[in-house]
Amino acid sequence: MKSLTHWRPQLVGRLNERHILCVLQALGPMSRAEVARRSGVSPPTASKAVASLLSAGLIEEVAPPEVSRGRPAPLLRLAVERAQVLGVVIDADGCTVVAAALDGTPHAHATRDVPTASSYPALLDDLRRDCAELIARPGVATLAVGVSLPGLIDDRTGLGVLSPNLHFTDGKTPARDLGELLGLDAVLVQESRGICLAERLYGQAGGLKDFAVIDVGVGIGLGVFSGGRPLIGQTGHAGEIGHITIVPDGGAACGCGNTGCLETVAADGAFAARVARKLGRVVAIPEALDLVAARPADFRGELDETARYLAIGVAAVVNLFNPATVFLQSRLMERDPGFLPALLAATAKRTLPPALTGCRLLPATGTKPQGAIAAAIRHLTNAVAHGHDPV
Ligand SMILES: [Zn+2]
Repeated sequence: MKSLTHWRPQLVGRLNERHILCVLQALGPMSRAEVARRSGVSPPTASKAVASLLSAGLIEEVAPPEVSRGRPAPLLRLAVERAQVLGVVIDADGCTVVAAALDGTPHAHATRDVPTASSYPALLDDLRRDCAELIARPGVATLAVGVSLPGLIDDRTGLGVLSPNLHFTDGKTPARDLGELLGLDAVLVQESRGICLAERLYGQAGGLKDFAVIDVGVGIGLGVFSGGRPLIGQTGHAGEIGHITIVPDGGAACGCGNTGCLETVAADGAFAARVARKLGRVVAIPEALDLVAARPADFRGELDETARYLAIGVAAVVNLFNPATVFLQSRLMERDPGFLPALLAATAKRTLPPALTGCRLLPATGTKPQGAIAAAIRHLTNAVAHGHDPV
């Protein structure tokens, strides 16, 4: 029983540390006394946990605002000045590397956008170079890297299993490989689940237990929080709404190898194909988005048709998961003021009315880079102690 008596106090101490980190993450800077009160532990216990977190560089002391009388106590906050994490977004139409403080705030002038390389070694090389530049910031320790990847990933092993629009990452472990090149701890997050984390920590989903994020781009991703927990599935593959069949026979080929998937009729590529048919020439996604931004009325029919198909996916999410809010990321919605109303109208037609009652469809404010940052920070708090996932 020697081991039990030895590890048990240590485990309890680590759970306290993790709890304090979560309190600071959720509520912002506060005094030591408030940390103890808010986290519900005794002041001596809180003090011990705070000392451990300070020495690990995860939190720091900051001068409080001026008060009229007396000497105010310093405030504790997640490390902002002396520690950072990196967020890395790998995506089919571009990659991003960003450095952020542990409270999730991106540093100024610390975002690098790079075109997606055409091979896995070239991708790693590009990302390593950009990360190294951000790590070199003097006086700042980089504690972890979060890597966001589209498609199916295996949460247990950090393996990219199948990314329909980025096949060269299939069977690869991009976070582990990049972490080894940089000499840093790195974690992989499925991109839509990352946006969920970002929406919960930095966006409009704070305090929501049931919500979903639908991310429309080259593909269509879905992240779901149900009962305050992320929906993961047996092997981390839950939420692949982009690959439900919409056109059973004769549909367009999808990157997953199937035909007629939701992505083939409702993602940005499907819209670009509709614009191409209208104009009688090849139109790539960036040009289609530019055309919409400049003259949305000219493409009303193509926009409405895309919204009608996307509504099938949105209605399925509302019917299946009964969320309080569905957050939507869509470049068409950003460029065309008429897209969201058209989508709402089409969704209302396809959703069971009681499930739609009280459910909001809102533009997402969480982003993929924030998702990668949130994953890195969650990885740090998990490293302090495993347990109930508070995010
Ligand atoms: Zn598919």
